[in-house]
Amino acid sequence: MDSKKKSKIVIIDTSAILSGKPINFDDTMVVTTQGVSDELKPGGKDYQIFQFLIEKGLKINLPSRESIDEIKDISTKTGDIGRLSTTDIEILALALDFSKEKDKEPVILTDDYSIQNVANVLNIKFESISQHGIKKRFKWIYRCRGCGKKFEECIKVCPICGAATRSIISRKTNIKKRDIK
Ligand SMILES: [Zn+2]
Repeated sequence: MDSKKKSKIVIIDTSAILSGKPINFDDTMVVTTQGVSDELKPGGKDYQIFQFLIEKGLKINLPSRESIDEIKDISTKTGDIGRLSTTDIEILALALDFSKEKDKEPVILTDDYSIQNVANVLNIKFESISQHGIKKRFKWIYRCRGCGKKFEECIKVCPICGAATRSIISRKTNIKKRDIK
């Protein structure tokens, strides 16, 4: 596969829009999802930035149902599901849709660590806006604040003692250099 022949598709989430950082539209298709558009209230400064991006050529796409289901499956395995909003899942699903097209190379622009983590598992490129991107792939688990029991699934209240849980990183794997953009 020759990556030079692929056209770059930049997928931006809400954090990318709110950052106000300039987004390069030259020879690049820039897309987001309806969910991102819905998160921005008309009238505010954030909405103005969004309108400006629309004028520059930002497209709003809908991800496929299959990709949404795939993202839910994968993020359940990585433990990110509890940290991803519906919009975050849509962003990842949209990137997954583009990754299935031979001539397209999606890159997600986001500061969200869970989006980055799931993207990495899927071999989808991501770029950070302000924070440093993740250096390691990780898995979230949930630990009870009371009795300390650990849960693989996203459990908010401990079924044993009734205390609240918190998410912790249970293991990290180094990301191969070529995966970091
Ligand atoms: Zn407990």
